[in-house]
Amino acid sequence: DVYEYVDMNVLIDEALLIVNNEIKYSATIIKHYSDCKLLYCNKGQIEQVLVNMLVNASHAIKAKNHGNLGVVELSTLCDEKYGYMIIKDNGGGIDSEFINKIFNPFFTTKPVGQGTGLGLSISHDIIVNKHQGEISVESIKNEGATFTIKIPFNLEHK
Ligand code: ADP
Ligand code: MG
Repeated sequence: DVYEYVDMNVLIDEALLIVNNEIKYSATIIKHYSDCKLLYCNKGQIEQVLVNMLVNASHAIKAKNHGNLGVVELSTLCDEKYGYMIIKDNGGGIDSEFINKIFNPFFTTKPVGQGTGLGLSISHDIIVNKHQGEISVESIKNEGATFTIKIPFNLEHK
C-alpha cells in the first residue's frame, strides 16, 4: 500500500471532483478549510471514504428534498495529534434505532439495487484499521447527519 503526505483540503477537493455530477445537482457545497500539516495516509483509500460520504449525503438530501438543493458543509480541522475531516449534510438524517448499525457490512436503508450497505463498513475498516483513526456520526432525524473522520498525524511512527 502506498502511503504519502497529503493536504486534507486536497483530499476533499479531489473527492469532490470524482463525485461532481452526483453532488452538484443535489447540494450547495460550503467549505470550512483549515491550514493543517500534511496527513500521512493512503490517499486513494481516504478518497474512497470521502466519495462514499459525499454520495451518501447526496442520497440523503435527494430522498428528503424532492429535487431541491440541500447543503453539504465540508470542514478540515487539526490539533497537535490529529487531523479531522467533517462532512455535514442537511438531508433526511438517520433513525436513532439504526445509528448503531450503519457501519455494519450490508446494512442499508436504500431500495434493492441502490445500495450495497458496504460503503460505511469499508470506510470504517480504512479509517480504524488502516489508519489508526476513528470515524463517528451524529444525526438528528429529518435534520441531517454529520460524519467526523479523525486520523493521527504520527501514523508513520506507529
Ligand atoms: P449504502 O449507501 O449502500 O446504503 P453505506 O454503508 O454507505 O451503504 O450506508 C449505510 C446506511 O447508512 C445507508 O443506507 C443510510 O441508511 C445510512 N446513511 C449513511 N450516510 C447517511 C447520511 N449522510 N444521511 C442519512 N443516512 C445515511
Ligand atoms: Mg453508501
